[in-house]
Amino acid sequence: MPTLITVRSEGLYCEPGNFYIDPWRPVETALITHAHSDHARTGAQQYYATAVSEGVLRRRLGAEINLQGVTYGEKLKLGDTWVSFHSAGHVLGSAQIRVEHKDEVWVVSGDYKRDADPTCEPFEVVECDTFITEATFGLPVYRWASGETTAAEIYRWWQADSTRPSLLFCYAFGKAQRVLSELTKFTDQAVYAHGAVQALTDIYREVGVEMLPTIPTADMPRSHKFTGDLVIAPPSGHRSAWMKRFKRPQTAFASGWMAVRGARRRRGYERGFVLSDHADWPSLIQTVQETQAKTVYVTHGQTDVLSRYLRETMEIEAMPLKTLFEGELEGDI
Ligand SMILES: [Zn+2]
Ligand SMILES: [Zn+2]
Repeated sequence: MPTLITVRSEGLYCEPGNFYIDPWRPVETALITHAHSDHARTGAQQYYATAVSEGVLRRRLGAEINLQGVTYGEKLKLGDTWVSFHSAGHVLGSAQIRVEHKDEVWVVSGDYKRDADPTCEPFEVVECDTFITEATFGLPVYRWASGETTAAEIYRWWQADSTRPSLLFCYAFGKAQRVLSELTKFTDQAVYAHGAVQALTDIYREVGVEMLPTIPTADMPRSHKFTGDLVIAPPSGHRSAWMKRFKRPQTAFASGWMAVRGARRRRGYERGFVLSDHADWPSLIQTVQETQAKTVYVTHGQTDVLSRYLRETMEIEAMPLKTLFEGELEGDI
């Protein structure tokens, strides 16, 4: 059983520090790994998160939250523990949380990836005794091409049909900005954005992330047909009233789930681009190895498969960590 960090009904709890990490219920003190909605929830009296994630957190949880922004690597004394945030390479401001108590070090990974992403700091390996890793894509079939390779495919798909609007659906926080940034390698054309995408892209721009120029679709006159244009929208826009103004669009979805057989057709998209902000199978194994953790708890997704692999082939004490509210949630994939 976990000791320094335990699972309570409110979330992952550290008793010597008296704080929760990514709690799913209201608590006194919440440390937030990143601003996706399955990790950052309302109701904490005091939040700690990276300073660079502050813009997105305040937009999502409310401008008035009590939030102390910290820089990567800065040490905080909370109760009897030392706590620091280290880059997770997942989205803007995402962090792993390192907790040190006496001679013991635990790291909670949050969501992470190892692939290059021009919109956020790269993943930092943090050595620890116990590592709590995610396993969203913890099956050997999941292996990602680089973001640049996938962006090249998106660019070719967009350019291949100049007679229709090209509607690309992807999560509004993280994925959309990664696409807009990777596309700068191929073009400097403006892209049209759904309001939800535009708002988050503005926050990325404020902290200096370079992306293609974006124009809100709502700013365009009714006469504009978007022929040959690329439009980026969240999945909730697909088959919505918003989509009605685009005549005969070609549609695509960019997500790690597009690697799953049948997922694209089930969701009704013409094309699927495999682009994930989570670690693929080789990256999960590599990361566990690099942390040199002797004990690993696996949460989010394929917890059984990954923990069995770590036990049987790497002789690591590994086991699933059951948390509440698991599953596929908007904003996180
Ligand atoms: Zn997540
Ligand atoms: Zn996430």
